[in-house]
Amino acid sequence: IYGETGAYYGTVEQQGRLTLHLHLLLYIKGALPPQEIRNRLMTEGSEFEKSLITYLEAVHVGEFHNGDLATMQAKYPVPTDTNSTYQNPTLMMPVPPPSWCKDKKCSECKRCVQRANWWSNFWETTDDLMVKSNIHTHHQAYEPTAKDRKAAVTKGLKTKYKGAKGCRNKDGICMARFPREIFPESVVDYSDGSLNVKKLESDINNVTPMLTYCLRCNTDVTSLLSGTAIKAIVAYISDYVSKASLKSYQVFSSMYDVLHQ
Ligand SMILES: [Zn+2]
Ligand SMILES: [Zn+2]
Repeated sequence: IYGETGAYYGTVEQQGRLTLHLHLLLYIKGALPPQEIRNRLMTEGSEFEKSLITYLEAVHVGEFHNGDLATMQAKYPVPTDTNSTYQNPTLMMPVPPPSWCKDKKCSECKRCVQRANWWSNFWETTDDLMVKSNIHTHHQAYEPTAKDRKAAVTKGLKTKYKGAKGCRNKDGICMARFPREIFPESVVDYSDGSLNVKKLESDINNVTPMLTYCLRCNTDVTSLLSGTAIKAIVAYISDYVSKASLKSYQVFSSMYDVLHQ
């Protein structure tokens, strides 16, 4: 999806509710260092700028395929009628695409028609998955009651025992960074080579549609266009390594390995 993998660095976190949560940094083979990308973006209207934007807009999106948030929420409501034939895609496996038609000029044979149908189903399913998994609503901190604690001990659930953190800090700022800034189209600031990729919905995070289709859950995909951002993510991921009671020398050795890739 993203190109050939040069290296990757990630950890799997076990959340309070016992679900597994992956943080992963992917290095793409042949990708330029962030500063080099910035330097090249400072030339207005370059071929490089066009190619980079085409690539970034193809690998991750910040909006739905077939409409805006309100339209999509109306189209894919949370099912309440248990007799309905609607199948919640978060509970279904992905459907593999039908085989290719080898004729490049053809668009009408049985295989081509099946493939076109598969793609339209792909986009509808992906929009539905995003409605079910990617819309952020601010949540309050939650203090467990004595009853919750008792139930938690019986079931072995940490969340109910400890309660849950809200998404806002003491200043009322959402730590999940919502609502996010909107960009009607991808724009480069030629004065410093910084780039903001197109994003149309402020209440969802960015996703790679193919990843959403395959994984069927919330994902957050972003391109790190500065060395500082990359280092921050390495530190963030390493923090999760240390959560798993690893010794600090193991954390540093992991970071050393990554930075020398
Ligand atoms: Zn065909
Ligand atoms: Zn929030």
